[in-house]
Amino acid sequence: MRKLYFFDTTLRDGEQSLGITLNVREKLDIAKQIVRLGVDILEAGFPASSPGDFESVKIIAKEVKGAVICGLTRCVAKDIDLCAEALHEAEYPRIHTGIAVSPIHMEKKLRLSPQQVIDRAVEAVKHAKSYMNDVEFYAEDASRSEKDFLAKILTRVIEAGATVVNIPDTVGYATPWEFGELITYVKNNVKDIDRVKVSVHCHNDLGMATANSLAGIKAGADQVEGTINGIGERAGNTSLEEVMMALYTQKQNYGIDLNIRTKEIAAASRLVSLITGVPVPNHKAIVGANAFMHASGIHQDGVLKETQTYEIIDPEIIGVPRSQIVLSARSGRHALKYRLNELGYEVQDSELEKVYENFLLLADKKQEVYDEDLHALMGVAMSEQNQFKIKNISVATSGTQSAMATITLEFEDKEVKDAAIGNGPVDAVFKAIDRITGSQAKLEDYSLKSVSRGTEAQGNATVKIASGTKSCIGKGISTDIIYASAKAYLDAVSKLNA
Ligand SMILES: [Zn+2]
Repeated sequence: MRKLYFFDTTLRDGEQSLGITLNVREKLDIAKQIVRLGVDILEAGFPASSPGDFESVKIIAKEVKGAVICGLTRCVAKDIDLCAEALHEAEYPRIHTGIAVSPIHMEKKLRLSPQQVIDRAVEAVKHAKSYMNDVEFYAEDASRSEKDFLAKILTRVIEAGATVVNIPDTVGYATPWEFGELITYVKNNVKDIDRVKVSVHCHNDLGMATANSLAGIKAGADQVEGTINGIGERAGNTSLEEVMMALYTQKQNYGIDLNIRTKEIAAASRLVSLITGVPVPNHKAIVGANAFMHASGIHQDGVLKETQTYEIIDPEIIGVPRSQIVLSARSGRHALKYRLNELGYEVQDSELEKVYENFLLLADKKQEVYDEDLHALMGVAMSEQNQFKIKNISVATSGTQSAMATITLEFEDKEVKDAAIGNGPVDAVFKAIDRITGSQAKLEDYSLKSVSRGTEAQGNATVKIASGTKSCIGKGISTDIIYASAKAYLDAVSKLNA
């Protein structure tokens, strides 16, 4: 059995693609859950890209223990200096530096000769090495590079002290056979390759990210990079949860000692989706809502007789309880706490009273409380950062077009009331909120989804607003969709003002 290192880049490659800025608290919540899952290396950001990114890498390095904390840089001395500074308080710091190695990137993007690219790479690795021992080198666009050049540059960076060499399929161009061969080639043609770890970093442009990563692992890669739910540039990165469960399910074929707390997978997926606002498709492998549902009658019959007829993974392994329990206003604190525990939430006794209060309010409104409602309840408790409290909303609509909303908000201990007219009730509510809060942000996206089943289901509203270069998303959940929308909008305005 050999060890495979899991490298999570949800907060770097994933966040980079979102078009929103997560705040430090949101990033910390994600980072801690990813470490709880058992990931070995967490790439926290690209410190030279912005002061905000620098600050969040710094705080994650300080607060998140139990994993290597890594920062990305280009082969630029200033990037490396900032990265080392941001990682200063990390328990185990790593600098991840690199440069493009394919002919098209070297010629058209970098405008450097192959020799100049090698010189920069070597210089950068040596510079990073002056700060710390653990230095990973990425050979950007490796899958479209000339193999002998790739071997040459990797040999040189290993000589310069790199401890990990990353072979990315940056543009998602490879297919599993050739990608596996590429890793074999690297293993056979790079001097001293056995002294360092080989990493694979794949993108999903052809839907091959997980398959390519597995091909790389089979060919001897020691580290696999990816994100939770596969979020990332364009079609996304490798979904780490897919790789984990492929290795779990096919243990006998890989010989990997999987040191992952798979029961944390569902919680990690939910948290990343909640905080980033990127929904998980229902049919997504492993973590989609339908991943363990059996719709066809023949399949249902089979599963009832023997689950393994149509199920390759027991949902409980990834933290999804098999039993369905419906709670109601008659359910006590114990029942609530027990179910929350089964769903992966640790509720301290001090928090229980507040959670129970919110649960009762919800149970009064909708009678039957499903698991999805409990996730929403816990998710909102974690994500909502409203400095505003909604005291009252009333909306009057006339005809099909215009509506008037009157809102009373409480903030900084005073109540403020205002009204506005809009194209429909939600628009009117948002405009009234703008009048009270003075927000001039532009609404970029708004969506409403039901949390569970039935006409009494809760509405889950997501709002994306932008002002200048900063964008934020807000979330709100309620059995009343106007109220959910107002909460989401206020959540976003609060974050933008923060
Ligand atoms: Zn990438």
